[in-house]
Amino acid sequence: MELQQMLFTQGFGTRRLCAGLVQRGLVAVEGRVCTDAHEEIDVREGLPFTVDGQAWEYHDKAYLMMHKPAGYECSQKPGAWPSVYTLLPGPLRQRPNPGKVQGVQAIGRLDQDTTGLLLFSDDGAFIHRMASPKHHVPKVYRVRCAEPVEDAHVQALLEGVVLNDDPRPVRAAACDIHAPYDLDLTLTEGKYHQVKRMVAAAGNSVAALHRWRIGQLELPAALKPGEWRWLIAAEVSELR
Ligand code: URA
Repeated sequence: MELQQMLFTQGFGTRRLCAGLVQRGLVAVEGRVCTDAHEEIDVREGLPFTVDGQAWEYHDKAYLMMHKPAGYECSQKPGAWPSVYTLLPGPLRQRPNPGKVQGVQAIGRLDQDTTGLLLFSDDGAFIHRMASPKHHVPKVYRVRCAEPVEDAHVQALLEGVVLNDDPRPVRAAACDIHAPYDLDLTLTEGKYHQVKRMVAAAGNSVAALHRWRIGQLELPAALKPGEWRWLIAAEVSELR
């Protein structure tokens, strides 16, 4: 693939802008500065390159995880709080996606005050599969409750509680007491404010909410709030 085309696919702007970056000597592929925008690059997943000193990797499709901090909205056009998209570098938000929305998209939403594991991708089929309730991808939340957790709360969450928008009860796929005020709650669907509403319906309330697992994927301790990283191929395949 031509170098300027490679940069274009990775979100560095129009082909003309990408060619300019190369001609100004700002692009190095695997440590070698390239000055010919038409140079053929043998692209592969994870190919390291730098643009203006910043380290990047080539990815045909983008799959990433973020440790969402509190105080950010998952919407592209947020209301009162800044958007999680502002925590991602420009090229990830500008990756071209023919006929579709450009850039990576958050897969599902977490509330402004919820922290934890949030996935992004620009692979439409992957986003659809992960977000679809039909696929029952389990998501595990650590819930800090306002009142001490009682067995009756756990039992109600496992047996099913009725929320105000649907007469059919919703139940947790798993629910364990982690500490006197903390629950680990596993859900396989994602209704609006589902954890908060379920915990309220079970007779307690949520003081803080953190998602730490999606499918087999756990939020790594090394990823601090506001940070993101690429998913490795094995992590993407496990989620599929
Ligand atoms: N359930 C909620 O209530 N809030 C979230 O952010 C996620 C799940």
